[in-house]
Amino acid sequence: MVEERTNRRPLKSPDRPRRRDIALTAGLGVFIMAVLALSGEMEAGVFLAGSLALAGLAAVYYLTALTAAEPSARPAEAGASLRPVEIDACEAMLERLPIPVLLIGPGGRIERANPSARAFLGLGAERGLLSTALRQPRVLEAVSAALRGERGAAVEYSTLAPLESHVRAFVEPIRLDVPGPMPFRAMLVLADDTSSKRAERMRADFLANASHELRTPLASLSGFLETLQGPAHDDEEARDRFLAIMKEQTERMRRLIDDLLSLSRVEMNEHVAPTGSVELNDLARDVTEALRLVAERRAITLELTLADTPAQVRGDHDQIYEVVENLVENAIKYSPDGSQVRIWVEAPRTRDGAEHMPERMDPQSGRLTLSAPPLDPDARFAVVRVRDNGPGIERRYLPRLAERFFRVDGQKSGPTAGTGLGLAIVKHIVSRHRGGFTVESAPGAGSVFSAFFMLAPAQATAPPAPPSGTGPVEQTAGAVTKV
Ligand code: ADP
Repeated sequence: MVEERTNRRPLKSPDRPRRRDIALTAGLGVFIMAVLALSGEMEAGVFLAGSLALAGLAAVYYLTALTAAEPSARPAEAGASLRPVEIDACEAMLERLPIPVLLIGPGGRIERANPSARAFLGLGAERGLLSTALRQPRVLEAVSAALRGERGAAVEYSTLAPLESHVRAFVEPIRLDVPGPMPFRAMLVLADDTSSKRAERMRADFLANASHELRTPLASLSGFLETLQGPAHDDEEARDRFLAIMKEQTERMRRLIDDLLSLSRVEMNEHVAPTGSVELNDLARDVTEALRLVAERRAITLELTLADTPAQVRGDHDQIYEVVENLVENAIKYSPDGSQVRIWVEAPRTRDGAEHMPERMDPQSGRLTLSAPPLDPDARFAVVRVRDNGPGIERRYLPRLAERFFRVDGQKSGPTAGTGLGLAIVKHIVSRHRGGFTVESAPGAGSVFSAFFMLAPAQATAPPAPPSGTGPVEQTAGAVTKV
């Protein structure tokens, strides 16, 4: 894409006033002489000669002025007559430009590279050849063409190792006013599209996953419907069994749709910090009571330990409720019948509250921060933790827990299988609240999930409490409620 330069003059020529002045002055001279000739003060021959001389002089002056104006007008149009201060401004702009820009000289040598380009290509002080810094044959070809004065080009390239990247390279020839056979340089601008490409792919994957998740129960529903209409039409026993399965599948679709809507709602306002405030002790009690019946059906005991201080956190009540509800629901879902789930609230006053983990549950356990709060030395947090005695999660799966639709192998099928969206929702809500989310788990020993929320301003300024003790329940021993 070579920029087309035009040599057409601008419609309003800059020497137009000068032409007008010359014409006026000459016209005035002829007019005065004509008056003198008419009044008899000047002879007709002298008038004629004088007028011709005046017109000739005006014409010579006009042509001289025109050729003098021409050379100074041209560079101004081409933008070439930059004053030193303007050149400095251009240099400063280039240096601060957050986009990699390079000027490539004859032989593919890097003549200029702004700091973004140096960082992007890992260039040292010695800049060397473009071909050693960027091994992309199509980009190098486009640069060679531009150095020959050919049209510019836009080239896309991707790398997968050592890091995945997607880049658009724009190459344009630049003609310099230098003597010699190589007046062209190539300007190379690199636009990093990696994050937008990744977001695009994630969206496509998400849509594919969501439709796949919905299609499975839908296919099963339509299969059962066909069987009920056909072979099992008069089989009462089969009909009842199929209807029960169909009810489960419809429930599963409803859960999926609810979770998808919830995720999209959370994502939509993730950048808007919540303004409300929530008492975490009260909220943990409400969630525990609401899920008591679900737990009782499988003889699971919910043990709630409240913090011995108020735990007023900054946040949206419904969203924090959803976080605690998801964690307790998971603990119940993945626990064996007759086991115990512990829920406890801590209101640590220490500044390092976000990093504070309970005592290691098992020497072999894996621990991971799934979402870290922003670095703020003044922020203090209250924590809600949920511990179960379920199967635990292998260390290798921990980093994937908050991925959408991720389910640990072996827990993927069956009517009670989750949607794989619960922890993704938790992570998004926690990050909207500028909080933290951690997991500790050991196969065979169970898991502890912790969600941290920033203390509301009034409580955050209260004097720090002394460091807490050792065990998770004992260390915050407040009211222990067995539900
Ligand atoms: P789901 O709806 O499948 O429970 P989540 O996003 O809540 O989706 O959880 C993702 C996966 O993490 C689950 O499918 C399960 O494999 C694993 N998981 C979550 N919580 C626990 C837990 N308390 N114990 C064991 N595995 C868990």
